[in-house]
Amino acid sequence: MDAAEFRRRGKEMVDYVADYLENTEQRPVYPDVEPGYLRSLIPPEAPLQPDSYDDVIKDVERVIMPGVTHWQSPYFYAYFPGGSSYPAMLADMLCAAIGCIGFTWAASPACTELETVMLDWLGKMLKLPEHFIAGTQGLGGGVIQGTASEATLMSLLAARCKALKRIQAAKPDIPECELRTKLVAYTSEQAHSSVERASLIAEVTMRKVPTDGTYAVRGSMLKKMLEEDKAAGLVPFYFCATLGTTPSLAFDRITELGPICNEENVWMHIDAAYAGSAFICPEFRPLLNGVEFADSFNFNPHKWLLINFDCSAMWVKKREDMIGAFKVDPLYLKHENQESGLITDYRHWQIALGRRFRSLKMWFVFRLYGLQGLQAHIRKQVALAKEFESFVRADKRFEICAEVIMGLVCFRLKGSNDLNQLLLKRITQHREIHLVPCQLSGLFVLRFAICSRRTDSKHIQHAWRHITQLSCELLQENH
Ligand SMILES: *Cc1c(COP(=O)(O)O)cnc(C)c1O
Repeated sequence: MDAAEFRRRGKEMVDYVADYLENTEQRPVYPDVEPGYLRSLIPPEAPLQPDSYDDVIKDVERVIMPGVTHWQSPYFYAYFPGGSSYPAMLADMLCAAIGCIGFTWAASPACTELETVMLDWLGKMLKLPEHFIAGTQGLGGGVIQGTASEATLMSLLAARCKALKRIQAAKPDIPECELRTKLVAYTSEQAHSSVERASLIAEVTMRKVPTDGTYAVRGSMLKKMLEEDKAAGLVPFYFCATLGTTPSLAFDRITELGPICNEENVWMHIDAAYAGSAFICPEFRPLLNGVEFADSFNFNPHKWLLINFDCSAMWVKKREDMIGAFKVDPLYLKHENQESGLITDYRHWQIALGRRFRSLKMWFVFRLYGLQGLQAHIRKQVALAKEFESFVRADKRFEICAEVIMGLVCFRLKGSNDLNQLLLKRITQHREIHLVPCQLSGLFVLRFAICSRRTDSKHIQHAWRHITQLSCELLQENH
């Protein structure tokens, strides 16, 4: 493909993308394919001679689209949103064009510097404490990770390194391998599975803290476990709090938990993967109070801030804790500016060496929506969730299972888990809307998350009519 053809095909692709996104609601949101469907649709080997572009494009509809779950469909209510907007997609195209791998400042200065400034912009939108903002005299700053899972793992590894250094200094005669076995990390029983996985990857013992009636961890619950473990000769070193849990959007009480962690030398990381975006709205910002006690904080603009995957924003209170834990400096990565103290080499902040120019997506989206545009997006989706909640509450056959605070409604038919499981099965089979379940206090619960930027009131109404119709059928059969 030469430049002339690229210009032509590029314009066609933009049209295809716009048509796809503006008309996704006409496609069944959930695909009707069996596992392994794709292999039989394409040759077993790559072509020896080049295929034609037209053939490739034709195969997008024939091979790919039938197996796509349409996350941007206004009828997609599963998981949490996958962020998407035209400005973010255009920026991603530019990122691909520049094609730099920005592991050090010298590897592409704009890649590093825009990222630092964008994380400051975003940190200010969230009114994060000054120490997280790199542009001030603070010791902290922000970085874009690929996912919240990576942010959690990085924080856990940095915390472990810091804890080991501290105890080794106090007890130099005990070998490191023995100290490691004493370390204990904590998280909520409602925390995302990626937190437990981080502990498995890092080979760290992680204990689950029980939650209260609202599925939130309270200070007293963590305190009790810390006391027990210290009495048993163990060393608590890390707590991952969740703001907006995945099952039901519960908020751990970080104003209670933070001071305990600070007092006990326990690193507090906050995972606000979904809910974090809402903190740009003053009415939701109080839920972030207590972040001043955190050593690191993370949320996913690629969930709810209109930025396409992947873009997970992470801030640390002390850059040195991250960099100090993972610094390896081979000659080929050294550059003349690195000792100046003025620049950031983001390779020290993450697992991989290579990194994409992801801050372009932030820059385009922040500038083309403005803070007000982003706030309007969050508020619209919360209002839609409240509207759906009101439908559920008005129907005596259903119950709401957790307070609706943002864009997630947890609900179920009053009755057995089997009944609700059957309802979800029917919903999934009809493919008109798509949602996933969760378990709360032993109950099988349906999660209705407002996801697509294109979801409007009429879609919510349609979804509710569909759910009630399937429920009617089900309840009649069961009588
Ligand atoms: C979605 C989610 C995650 C996982 O996010 P990734 O970016 O896919 O790793 C982690 N924690 C919570 C609370 C989430 O909702």
